[in-house]
Amino acid sequence: MKNIFETERLRRIYPAYVDFVTKELFPTELHLLQDKWENNEPILRAKRETAKEAGLWAPYLSEEEGGLGLSMVEFGQLSEVMGTSVLGHYVFNCQAPDIGNIELMHMFASEELKEQYLKPLMNGDIRSCFGMTEPEFAGSNPVNMATSAVFDGDEIVLNGHKWFTTACDGASFCIVMAVTDHDASPYARASMILVPTDNEGFELVRNIPIMGEAGGGYFSHAEIRLNDVRVPKSNLIGNRGEGFKMAQMRLGPGRIHHCMRWIGICERAFDMMCERAANRELREGRVLGHQQTIQNWIAESRAEIDASRLMVLSTAKKIDEEGAKAARIEISTIKFYVANVLMKVLDRAIQTHGALGITDDTLLSFWYRHERGARIYDGPDEVHKASLAKAILKNYGL
Ligand SMILES: Cc1cc2nc3c(=O)[nH]c(=O)nc-3n(C[C@H](O)[C@H](O)[C@H](O)COP(=O)(O)OP(=O)(O)OC[C@H]3O[C@@H](n4cnc5c(N)ncnc54)[C@H](O)[C@@H]3O)c2cc1C
Repeated sequence: MKNIFETERLRRIYPAYVDFVTKELFPTELHLLQDKWENNEPILRAKRETAKEAGLWAPYLSEEEGGLGLSMVEFGQLSEVMGTSVLGHYVFNCQAPDIGNIELMHMFASEELKEQYLKPLMNGDIRSCFGMTEPEFAGSNPVNMATSAVFDGDEIVLNGHKWFTTACDGASFCIVMAVTDHDASPYARASMILVPTDNEGFELVRNIPIMGEAGGGYFSHAEIRLNDVRVPKSNLIGNRGEGFKMAQMRLGPGRIHHCMRWIGICERAFDMMCERAANRELREGRVLGHQQTIQNWIAESRAEIDASRLMVLSTAKKIDEEGAKAARIEISTIKFYVANVLMKVLDRAIQTHGALGITDDTLLSFWYRHERGARIYDGPDEVHKASLAKAILKNYGL
């Protein structure tokens, strides 16, 4: 299929990313996943240095900041390439939640916070996390939260309980959403505050086991408690009471990044499925790929992946041209559509591999465990479907 979203710049840089991911990451990633994060960190640090030296570092940053100053359409296509490896986004410093925090801090953090935290984050010297969801409240309606941040002289005192704080283990700071203005309207109650994780009272309770695996370091989701944590008033990001406004701005582009990463995973799983179908012999002269059911899975997956890419890049184009707010409904549409394509493609690839598909001898089981959350985080399917349906029904007078 002709790539109608290709640009001259992308044509120049794209092959280098494919080459890096294929040669530097594919051969080692399965082996690395089977080891502890702390053992892998030095190896990944070396790979990150190689990526930097090759001029492939954080391409979404502006050129002055050491990136390539790409549009959303261009970065989306690189994000797909990175997504074909489980380590791709991390090695190029494009991984969530850091990329979202970087974009957010660029827009709203003070010069002092940028110097102290954003610079080392962009440079890959530290990691960060984002703490919004709380176990006691429905995260799909994030205006409901109990974490409080009280201004006390030159300081802010935080108390609360968060969970699913992705990559908190080993992160240097957390951007915490907390209620600062209890009596304000629901969308003006919360603010964002930067909390260093080594502050007294910042407690990482546990890495939450997910389908049998608690993970560690970057590949983990933490439960945390904030017990009378004190930070300077200057750690407030943006204006007081504008936490939700900023969170929405953080999520729009973030959903493009996720969707394109999922398409990368789909492509890799699709490739594995086809490889297996073409070679797994059922009897002499007859392989899995001769069976119509498997052919259907291959054909349906191909069509769904291609449709997803076109939808996501067309949404990215709208964001580039009109901003994330104007593309709100398209963003909702791709979020639930592509997450479900990912589930279907992974499931078909696993089924095609038979018992091997559920072992940890291939990447499929890692993705199956780690990506089931795609239908839940950044807004569950049902919330996005409701947004789309409501926007459509408006045209019918409802
Ligand atoms: C892998 C992963 C990583 C995450 N990382 C982070 C992170 O770094 N930081 C952070 O703050 N949070 C994070 N989260 C949390 C995430 O944002 C929440 O899980 C999400 O907002 C949903 O909230 P909830 O889990 O409380 O589900 P609930 O709000 O309790 O919803 C449960 C289910 O109810 C249904 N539902 C909800 N609302 C509606 C509706 N309006 N109409 C119909 N059905 C509905 C949906 O099926 C939904 O799945 C992460 C979650 C996952 C799974």
